[in-house]
Amino acid sequence: MSQVLYRKYRPQTFEEIVGQKTIVDVLRAAIEKKRISHAYLFSGPAGTGKTTIARIFARAVNCEKEEPCNKCEVCAEFISGQSLDLIEIDAASSRGIDEIRSLREGIRSLPFKAKYKVYIIDEVHMLTKEAFNALLKTLEEPPKHVIFILATTELDKILDTIISRTQHFEFRKIGEEDIQKALELIIKKEKVKIDPEVTNIIAVLSEGSLRDAESMLDQALSASSGDFGADEIRGIFGVPKRELLENMTKALLEKDAKTALGIIHKGTEEGLDQKAFLKLLIRNFRFLVYLKIDPNYASELAKFLPESELAELKNSASANELKKFEAILNSLNDAYPLLKIAYLPQLPLELAVLRITGDKTS
Ligand SMILES: [Zn+2]
Repeated sequence: MSQVLYRKYRPQTFEEIVGQKTIVDVLRAAIEKKRISHAYLFSGPAGTGKTTIARIFARAVNCEKEEPCNKCEVCAEFISGQSLDLIEIDAASSRGIDEIRSLREGIRSLPFKAKYKVYIIDEVHMLTKEAFNALLKTLEEPPKHVIFILATTELDKILDTIISRTQHFEFRKIGEEDIQKALELIIKKEKVKIDPEVTNIIAVLSEGSLRDAESMLDQALSASSGDFGADEIRGIFGVPKRELLENMTKALLEKDAKTALGIIHKGTEEGLDQKAFLKLLIRNFRFLVYLKIDPNYASELAKFLPESELAELKNSASANELKKFEAILNSLNDAYPLLKIAYLPQLPLELAVLRITGDKTS
């Protein structure tokens, strides 16, 4: 259910890909110059487009057109998953030597219809050692008619010998702005009305994964009967109310430990998501830094922040020194990775509050 939008709006051409511009450019140039490598490695966080780009690339190298037409026989068969020349292996579920052995036998035979047989091996780090070694042998001398695209979320588990035999692309997290734009396009196509503030919050919470952002939007759409606003989305994902964020921002700027700790305590009792809280606080202080450095940035923020919230930020930006924002942002940023290991989820933020409010020098 939560993957509906993700599948429905999965990009089908290089043009439609969100983010990863450098990678897309390099791959398109390779196709144009007919300099196709026989083994690629796509590494990077989940939901950043590795499999999507692999599939488009698989069609592009086989289609008559460089940008896959998605209509010709080969394209159509690749899209439907019926082609014998596109083999997708999920190493997370089939990690054994048998699969790789049959793969080694399979690559010897020529493609049925396409120019290249394409093997997409997802989560390739999950293969057993034996399977990995077998794959390595295959990569040493891949036949001309075969292209391997290996994908992984855990590059450090991939042997150097594999990396050196592939053309390696590192996928980055997708920027918040790109994610927000992609969500807004979906909303337009779905013909629903959603506050830009909502898409911005989802973009922040999704941490660079378009797939996560799209399933959050899905979740939000199915939880609501029609048009809905930011408060509802906050409720669905345990995101703090704007008022809470504004009070916290104020307390930190005023070095008011009592109020700040009180807000954390109350929020914790009410089941606030500490991670979301910290993220949105970081977001707020980044906005303050930007506004302080360049007041024109307000017109950017006006695209998704409600007027009253932007006015509040503008006031704080002009009333405080840049150094203060930087110090607070630093402490909040240090607290963020500690969320993963902290004994209590609210502890990293509490400690950051003490550090921020205890520092009387700035
Ligand atoms: Zn085609």
